[in-house]
Amino acid sequence: MTRLIFLGPPGAGKGTQAKILADLRNIPHISTGDILRNAVAFHSSLGEKVQSYMDEGELVPDELLFDLIRHRLSQTDAVERGWILDGFPRNVSQASFLENLLQELNQSCDRVIYLEVPDEVLTERLHERGRKDDSQATIRKRLEVYRTQTVPLVDFYRERSLLKTINGDLPMQEVTKSLRQLVGS
Ligand code: AMP
Repeated sequence: MTRLIFLGPPGAGKGTQAKILADLRNIPHISTGDILRNAVAFHSSLGEKVQSYMDEGELVPDELLFDLIRHRLSQTDAVERGWILDGFPRNVSQASFLENLLQELNQSCDRVIYLEVPDEVLTERLHERGRKDDSQATIRKRLEVYRTQTVPLVDFYRERSLLKTINGDLPMQEVTKSLRQLVGS
């Protein structure tokens, strides 16, 4: 059983590393960004509600994510094998919600992996990636949203002795290596 939260700025490589580790451990990789992008692509009612926030680089309203996370963490694969959460929580209100939810579901998070990468490197990487929300203005917005809303989670999880920091400013394989050492796989 492995239950991990991946924390870090946009462009840190969270998604890539979370996916590699989830495949290695055969556990679900739960990326709220992927789920929301899918909703937009399929023009679901959720997709219609979230599209403008995503295009602007803003966080979508918390309430839209709570049912979705509750539902996903209650599914059999997540209950039986665990999960890697990538992109959730993104602010203190989501972290508090998750803390209560896990208690309710009788689950506990093993660790929060914080992928640390300097700002200059992030901007460079995001420009290269070329996703729809990777335009210059949106990149700036997402980094600002990260700094003001998500960075407080570093302390939130440090206070709970869950935080483990990994240097994300290394070649991808090196990051994977330190990650595997850290979680023992
Ligand atoms: P990501 O792929 O994690 O960078 O997410 C892409 C976009 O999806 C973000 O810029 C937000 O608009 C939205 N998003 C993803 N996860 C969350 C979340 N936990 N809370 C609010 N918005 C989110």
